[in-house]
Parts: sequence; structure tokens; C-alpha cells
Amino acid sequence: MTDTAATTIGADSLGATVRAELAARTPRSAEIAANATDVLALEVVPTFEMPHPIYIESVEGPHMTDVDGNRYIDLTMGFGPHLLGHRPKVIEDAMREQMGRGWHVGLHNPLQAELAGLLREAARCAEQSIFCNSGTEATMYGMRVARAFTGKTKVAVFDGNYHGAHDYALIRAAGDSPREAPLGQVLGRGVPEVINDDTMMVLPYQDEAAYGLIRAHADDLALVIVQPVQNTVPRDDGAEFLHGLLEVCRECGVLMLMDEVVTGFRVAFGGSQETYDITPDLATYGKALGGGMPIGALAGRADVMALLGKGWGHPDGVFSGGTFSG
Ligand code: PMP
Repeated sequence: MTDTAATTIGADSLGATVRAELAARTPRSAEIAANATDVLALEVVPTFEMPHPIYIESVEGPHMTDVDGNRYIDLTMGFGPHLLGHRPKVIEDAMREQMGRGWHVGLHNPLQAELAGLLREAARCAEQSIFCNSGTEATMYGMRVARAFTGKTKVAVFDGNYHGAHDYALIRAAGDSPREAPLGQVLGRGVPEVINDDTMMVLPYQDEAAYGLIRAHADDLALVIVQPVQNTVPRDDGAEFLHGLLEVCRECGVLMLMDEVVTGFRVAFGGSQETYDITPDLATYGKALGGGMPIGALAGRADVMALLGKGWGHPDGVFSGGTFSG
């Protein structure tokens, strides 16, 4: 589509034209979609506007090929994990080599400590790590260990930040609340109101009014979790705000977690901790860390992470773990 076409047709009809063209080129996808809705409540998160789901059969380098044989340039990188493109040889070779030895869960794998060592090299705060399967799990464990370490209950999230799909991550600012003192509300049905009322608070992002709110709630606040760069507003000018935030957290005995699920290994090898020259107490990872496979990691200060190491049988122990963890 040329620039001239874009300016003369107008955005709405251009969108309609592109959707109609895409629909005409993807009959096999339409057929699969018609059957899939019968048995699938939801497929991929519906982020992209399409005439119907487009089903991808194979991927290679920058390209994806759908079930009708159309080839696309993939600008989404699977929301971030396919940082090296699709099927990069280095990852395919490593996976093939491992497949040759079989795969297992439940007992230890010597590669895990090696990966934790690499994470420590990359990220300033990562004295110790635990691994899990998604960014969602990583932020869930981060909130839990912070509550255990500080003995306090509340976790503060920033308006417009995203931290995954568990209940504590699904708190948003109510649309009609004042920007400098947002009121939280749960996102979607099924998240208990008590999560918002008693365990969470919302802060204004990139706004120093957040510092005053943290000070005012210092006695209840265990953790402030923050995205160094937002998914939907990818600005890279957060250094000053984050340094100020860390200072206020330190002053108030509140831990600070930088959610580097998007920025980790992406904006720099050391993520935003490197580009902003900052060392939070905790950080979370996912996406690019797995090279296209599911992964999550919580990393942080050894004294905080030690609570996860004690196991749930210990009076100070914090539970983590699952069939596919580690
Ligand atoms: N934190 C951030 C900043 C994210 O962008 C995401 C996912 N988009 C998550 C956490 C959750 O990660 P996952 O989708 O792997 O559960």
C-alpha cells in the first residue's frame, strides 16, 4: 500500500480495504477459525485487528507463512520472545542437542545454575534467581517474597503498567479517579474486590506524586513494582523518575521490583538496570530470556531471595515451585 493510497483513502477505509484483502487471501484460516470457536473459548490474546484469526504454519527468520501459503514479515516477535528472529540456528542447535538427551522435570538440571550465573552477569540486582514458566509467575513470586520479607501486605502498581494475569496483577486505576491519586479497580470479573481493597494500591506512572503516596503508606507497603519502560508507551526517559523512586522506597523500607519481562535482554544485555544505571531489590524476566520457549525468572538481593530457598516447611519460608519450574 503506497503513501498516496493511505492519504487519499483515509485511515478507516484503508483499514477496511486491508482487512477485506486479507480475508480474501486467507480462506483456509477462515475455515479453521469457524471450527475453532466451537471448541476454543479464546485463542491468542486478541491484540491485532484481523478479519479472522490468521493461522501460522511455519516460521523462519523474519518471516511467518500461514496455512494459505501467504508469507508475512513478523513485526510482533511473539510479543518479544523471538528477539533473534524465528528458528535462529543457535537456538535450534541447542534444542536439538538437548532433545537428543531427552527431557525431564522434577529432578535437577545442571543448566539451571549456569543460566542463573548468566543472569547475575547481566543484571545488577540478580544475586540469586528462581526460574518458572512465565512473567506472570515471576511477578507473583516477587510480590509474595516481598510481603514475607517486609512483613507488610500491600503492593503498589503503577497505572498503565502490566505485570501478568494473576489476581494481584489485575488492578488498574479507575478511569474517573484523579491522576495524582488513582483509585484501584479490578480488571475483569472473577478477581475478588478484596484484592484491590486490602492488598494493593495504584500509583501515577512517571509522576512524582507517587513518592508522596508511598511515604503516606510506608507502614503497609511491602513492594513497589514498576515497568522501567511501558509496553504501550515505549519511552526511554525514565531514569530520573526510577532513581527518585528507589530513593523513596529505601527511605520507607519498601522493596522495589523492576519488571524487566519486556526490557530484559532487549534494551541492553543488562536490561533497563544497565541503561538507567540502577539496582533495584528485585527484577522479573520472561520473554527474550527463553529464546522463544516459555520461561520466567525472579532475581534479586540474596537476603530477600533466601526466603524462597528456605522452603515452605521453614517458619520464614516462602513457597515457590511447580511441575515445570526449574
Ligand atoms: N510483565 C510484563 C512487563 C509483561 O509485558 C508481561 C507480558 N506481556 C508480563 C509481565 C507477563 O508475562 P507472561 O505473559 O509471560 O505471563
